[in-house]
Amino acid sequence: MYVDSHCHLDPSTWGDDAGVDAVIARAREAGVTRMVTIGSGYGFDSAARAVAVAARHPGCVRAAVGLHPHDAREATPSRMEALFALADAPGVVALGEMGLDYHYDASPRDVQRDVFRAQLREAARRRMPVVIHDRESDGETLAILDEEGAWATGVLYHCYTGDVAMMETIVARGGSISIPGIVTFKNGDVMRAVAAVVPLDRLLIETDSPFLTPVPHRGRRNEPAYVTLVAAAVAQARGMRTDALAAATTDNALRFFRWA
Ligand SMILES: [Zn+2]
Ligand SMILES: [Zn+2]
Repeated sequence: MYVDSHCHLDPSTWGDDAGVDAVIARAREAGVTRMVTIGSGYGFDSAARAVAVAARHPGCVRAAVGLHPHDAREATPSRMEALFALADAPGVVALGEMGLDYHYDASPRDVQRDVFRAQLREAARRRMPVVIHDRESDGETLAILDEEGAWATGVLYHCYTGDVAMMETIVARGGSISIPGIVTFKNGDVMRAVAAVVPLDRLLIETDSPFLTPVPHRGRRNEPAYVTLVAAAVAQARGMRTDALAAATTDNALRFFRWA
């Protein structure tokens, strides 16, 4: 059994609801019995769409709702209020993904920071865990997590692409690390080195589908079924059996998202 801790089961990618349902069915056939769909990153409305997918699949899908740094420029007080209200919906287990992306700089940096802080405060108020997107923020994401006291309710660095030292900093603060399909890439040596040493109780795996498709499916759209390939590559990097890695990462995901 596997959990895909981070995928985007957005109908805009998969055509329609039936397309999403087919992706979920393929995941289940592959042993990926649970997945967290991230309602963030596909515009403001992706949060409501993620909640709808989770509602349609209560046995195997949970949702996170948030505003991606790419979309931060779209934030208004009333839109943020509507977004946060979605966190009350059944099946919502986290806020996010949220954070800072200074690689694309799709929204002004000061706006990214403000929207990130607003979401951290809402998560703290609700005592909900957060899913973090950090790309080339040069330590600012970590500094804001510290300043906002965000670690207490659970912090997951998704698609972790940092080095071992940064991973150790995150873990020391109580955070968890999610490894994506880059770990299967030919040029994924740095990620394999990190995956080898993340403490086993803080390690999760993800596809971040529809992007970052693992080897040997490069060129195709990524989907949760392929988290099995991420598990195999992480297990190999750690010198573990894949079934043991799958069991540990499943436990960690269920605990992090308080998925009973
Ligand atoms: Zn992300
Ligand atoms: Zn994502």
